[in-house]
Amino acid sequence: MRIPPPEHRFKKGKSMPSKPKISKSQYVKGLQCPKALWFYRHRKDLKPPIDPATQARFDAGNEIGQLAMQYFKGGVEVTDAYWEIEKAVASTQDFIKQGHDIIFEATAIHPLDGGYSRIDVLRKVPNSDEWDLIEVKSSTGVKDYHIDDMSFQYHVFFAAGYKIRKCLMMVIDNTYVRQGDIEPQKLFKLEDISNEVFAKQSDVDYWATQLGYVLDRKDEPDIQIGERCFNPFECEYRHHCWKHIPKYSVFDIYQKKKMDEIINQIGSYDINDIPPNLFPNGAKAIDVDCYQCDKEHVEKEPIREWLSGLEYPLYYLDYETLMPAIPLFDGTRPFQQVPFQFSLHVQENPNAELQHFEFIHKEQSDPREAFAKVLVELCGKSGSVIVYNQGFEMARNRELAEDFPQYADGLLAINDRVVDLLEPFKKRWIYSPKQQGSASIKYVLPAFTDLKYDDMNIANGQEAMDGYFAFAKGNISPEQSHILWKNLSEYCKLDTYAMVELLEMLKKHC
Ligand code: SF4
Repeated sequence: MRIPPPEHRFKKGKSMPSKPKISKSQYVKGLQCPKALWFYRHRKDLKPPIDPATQARFDAGNEIGQLAMQYFKGGVEVTDAYWEIEKAVASTQDFIKQGHDIIFEATAIHPLDGGYSRIDVLRKVPNSDEWDLIEVKSSTGVKDYHIDDMSFQYHVFFAAGYKIRKCLMMVIDNTYVRQGDIEPQKLFKLEDISNEVFAKQSDVDYWATQLGYVLDRKDEPDIQIGERCFNPFECEYRHHCWKHIPKYSVFDIYQKKKMDEIINQIGSYDINDIPPNLFPNGAKAIDVDCYQCDKEHVEKEPIREWLSGLEYPLYYLDYETLMPAIPLFDGTRPFQQVPFQFSLHVQENPNAELQHFEFIHKEQSDPREAFAKVLVELCGKSGSVIVYNQGFEMARNRELAEDFPQYADGLLAINDRVVDLLEPFKKRWIYSPKQQGSASIKYVLPAFTDLKYDDMNIANGQEAMDGYFAFAKGNISPEQSHILWKNLSEYCKLDTYAMVELLEMLKKHC
């Protein structure tokens, strides 16, 4: 059932807008935490610098924005700088007077509370005085904070005098398969969230005013850390608010939803202070016990049984993938994991020397077929294929088998031989308090060996992905590419060598 727009709340005004006060992104930030909003306005010194991963996300968002504009034919764009709000409002009004039906970055100010908003697309309903608000997001579905975001935009545009018919979220359709040039009409889909937005308007009236007061405060709001610091995003001010929290704390033990309640009961962030009656269950109980007693936990029997299932030659295998929002290659979908690199350590028998092989696709073309071909050739026909977190590599193999049937038998045969080295750590057959509650290889490796990832130029999968994406898009020089190949090679090689070392460590513990 369609909820009618809340026409009753304001007299749609021709009044002069008040001074711009709070934007929609500040509103969404303030809903998560008023202190974060206050920091944003009053403590610019606390804002962390933009790291390469964040910059890569911004760049991807800009590209999606450009494609979204191509979806609408004949639109005009408000190009005033983001701080020139009143000018942008005037430009929007000028475009409307000139009869434009599609206005990108259309801007309005709420005449009473000073909220201001730039909507990605303001679209005129044909033969009517109504408009649709359309916001573009680089996700594949509508999230709760998107509703808050659009609710604020509606609040502003409605009060500024616009008759709004629908509020639409433009998201990426992950069923789209690229063939040739990107087709914006197929890449995006529109989701109607008007009912949710209309139903939220009383909340927005209240919170827009309250958050306006927060901005006017001279001193920092008194807000405690808790679940809000992660929901819906990890807050950018954690480096400040969390500086007194140990790196491994009670926040790592309990589910985020219960955090505030549990911390009030314990009265401390220190895992040592967790009383017996609040002890968690399962793996977390082992984590807390080992931490409080500063001891390792080892269950030899299941480890022995797991080790006895291994068959030589041993193949230690790890993949790196690309996951672009806008597919780069024909036959791929938005956010599809595209493998471009693998590292393979091979040990023929317990006394044989370790051999290393690798594949990196060093051309700006689809890496998948060459990847599958070399992989099948190098992995042989027998012996255990050891990976860390089997779901990832096995899913890639299944996808490759589907897209390149000529290698399907070989790829699926590899899956039949996969053994997951994550299992002994995830099931806590072995645990060191140095793991800090994590079974990730990034934590397990330094907990049991002298190896670590910290000093590497590429130290995690996201950095590998971002580096390769820059290459694939043609955004780095040949010299930078050479450095990238070296860094990628070292990183992925450590992933498989880490498994060799961890397997040896498991043998020694039994
Ligand atoms: S870290 Fe937590 S308490 Fe601090 S500003 Fe962010 S959400 Fe608020």
